[in-house]
Amino acid sequence: MPSAEAPRWTAYANERLAGEGYRRGGGRAAVIDLLDAQNCALTAQEIEDQLRDGERRVGRATVYRVLDELVALDLLAKVEIGDGLTRFERVFPEGTHHHHHFVCRNCGKLIPFEDDELERVLRRIARREGLEMEGHDVTLRGLCADCSDSV
Ligand SMILES: [Zn+2]
Ligand SMILES: [Zn+2]
Repeated sequence: MPSAEAPRWTAYANERLAGEGYRRGGGRAAVIDLLDAQNCALTAQEIEDQLRDGERRVGRATVYRVLDELVALDLLAKVEIGDGLTRFERVFPEGTHHHHHFVCRNCGKLIPFEDDELERVLRRIARREGLEMEGHDVTLRGLCADCSDSV
């Protein structure tokens, strides 16, 4: 199975934030550390829940403000998988780490995957069509291994 393990994002995010004149904030640092400990996207609610139970308490308003800031700086991307929830995913520097998702229609699990060949094919298609691709969304849907075993 191809690994979707990502490089560290915290240092990159902090550098961008410092460059934009943001001061290091406890709440922001907690959100960034939490996101960087995931291998995939989380909803705002999941982020809020995990930070509420953690050592560094971060209030809901701070979580939402920080998520907005990080999205505005393109450090986080919003991931919509069609269940009405917005998830937040780390964005790495261009050409480093980048993954897509498989969504299980039964349990709703989000499974990340990456594939260099897929990226190459998408770039080739854009080139062939004369398009300047700035991003892309690829979501596979169906049953995950656990759910397909149980039907
Ligand atoms: Zn993901
Ligand atoms: Zn499943």
